[in-house]
Formats: sequence, structure tokens, C-alpha cells
Amino acid sequence: MNIVLMGLPGAGKGTQADKIVEKYEIPHISTGDMFRAAIQEGTELGVKAKSFMDQGALVPDEVTIGIVRERLSKSDCDNGFLLDGFPRTVPQAEALDALLADMGKKIEHVLNIKVEKDELIARLTGRRICKVCGTSYHLQFNPPKVEGICDKDGGELYQRADDNPETVTNRLEVNMNQTAPLLAFYNAKGVLTDIDGQKDINEVFKDLDAILTESGQ
Ligand code: AMP
Repeated sequence: MNIVLMGLPGAGKGTQADKIVEKYEIPHISTGDMFRAAIQEGTELGVKAKSFMDQGALVPDEVTIGIVRERLSKSDCDNGFLLDGFPRTVPQAEALDALLADMGKKIEHVLNIKVEKDELIARLTGRRICKVCGTSYHLQFNPPKVEGICDKDGGELYQRADDNPETVTNRLEVNMNQTAPLLAFYNAKGVLTDIDGQKDINEVFKDLDAILTESGQ
């Protein structure tokens, strides 16, 4: 089950990805998470990625495709994987097809979670994340029981550097411009399904799950 999960920042990709990988027991591969981990660890990759991420710009393709190639070659991807945040551009999608073809694989489902722009801005600027486990909260829509503290492990909540209002607007614009051709690319291949992301979290998951189950995989 080789899946690409799409949707603009704030559409709920991370939340739905957690549910999909739990049910189908496949790894969740998020390029954004991989870059953030590299920045925290202070690796060479982290240094390269940070300046782009801080501006809400895309990290160059050769860097991004390189880390995805390395990750997909690991044995835990043998029965499938869920890509989140990659590919973001047509050249990335073409590179992905080529590297999967080398492994005798292909993308079977591209699930696109759709949410209106104003709703996305509200979701992103109110988002807070646990420093310890990465769980996402929202100041209004999904607040923790105690302000600033994770319900699960008591970790401190922080705001991602790229979730401030100026960067958010830029990220959304960059993403919309870049992903329109990507959606057309996957639509032409017949693997794209749009999902209404404005519904309740569990409803969205039911819709996603129905697509994955229907295909008999
Ligand atoms: P995300 O967590 O997916 O919102 O990604 C956060 C940031 O990481 C993006 O704004 C980019 O700077 C970088 N990034 C993540 N995935 C990619 C990708 N596929 N291509 C280029 N840059 C990426």
C-alpha cells in the first residue's frame, strides 16, 4: 500500500497520517518531520534545510529527493508507506516515480485533503506542538487540558517557527502554486482522490479509510 497524502499546510495531513499508519501498519514518512529532526540534531542536512524552512520556501529538490530515496530503501517500506509532505512539485513526483520503478513499485493512492484558505490560516496560526512527542494541539479547536502542556506526557508546547501569520500566508501561496500541477499530474494517472477535510477528524478518516479499503488492499 504505497500512499501519498496531500493537502495544504493545516489541512490535517499529520493527524490523518497517524491514523492511517496505525491501522495499516506502514511507516509515516514526512519530509517536514525529517528536516525538523535534522535541524534539532544539528546535522549537515539540517543546516541546509533551515534557511529555506525559516522563510517558508521549499528545500531544493536534490536535497529532498535524496533523503526520500534513502528512506524508501529501508526494509520497513517493503509492505507500503505513507508519504506526507512529499512530493510537493512535479519534478519531485517524477523523481519519485523513477526511484520507485527501480524498486519495482509505484504509487497506488494519492489522497488530497481539501480545506478552505481562511480555515487553514486559522488552524495554522493557532497550532501548538509538544516538544517531546510532537502531538499537535490548537489554541481554540483542540486545546490541551492545561495551557502550554501536552496531555500525553507533560511536555512543553511550542509554536513552529513557520506557523507565524506572515510565514503561513507565504507557505500557503507557495504550496497552492506548486501543488496545482502536481494534482493534475496524479489526476491524469487516475490515482487521485479528493477528500473533504473540513469535516470532523473521525469523519475525514472514515472517508480516507473507505477509499483504501474499497481498493481491496
Ligand atoms: P511541512 O512540515 O510538510 O509543512 O514542511 C515544512 C517545511 O519543510 C516546508 O515549508 C519546506 O521548507 C520543507 N519541506 C518539507 N517537505 C518538502 C518537500 N517535499 N520539498 C521541499 N521542501 C520541503
